[in-house]
Amino acid sequence: MAYVITEPCRGCKFTDCVEDCPTDSFREGDDMLFIDPETCIDCDACISACPVEAIFPDHEVPQQWQHYIEMNATMSQKSPMITEIRRAE
Ligand code: SF4
Ligand code: SF4
Repeated sequence: MAYVITEPCRGCKFTDCVEDCPTDSFREGDDMLFIDPETCIDCDACISACPVEAIFPDHEVPQQWQHYIEMNATMSQKSPMITEIRRAE
C-alpha cells in the first residue's frame, strides 16, 4: 500500500504536505507532486496537511483518479525529491 496524490494537486505549489513526511517520499513534477510508493510507509501524516484533499491511500483513490496510482509510481522515479515547503511565485 502507499499514498497517492491526485488531480486536485495540479497547479498547487503550496507544498504544505512535504514537511510532515518522515520518509521524504514526495517528488516534484512540473505542475503537481507525486509520492514514491517504494518509500511511503502509510503513516497518514500528509493527509491533513493538504488543503485541497488531493492525497488518498491507494485503496481509497476515487474511481475517476485511479490512473494516478500508476502515475505516482512512474513519475516519482523520474522527479526530484522535495522536502521543504515552496511557496508559489
Ligand atoms: S498540499 Fe496538496 S495540493 Fe498542495 S502540493 Fe501537497 S498534495 Fe499537492
Ligand atoms: S503517508 Fe506518510 S510516509 Fe507516506 S507520503 Fe504521506 S507522510 Fe510520507
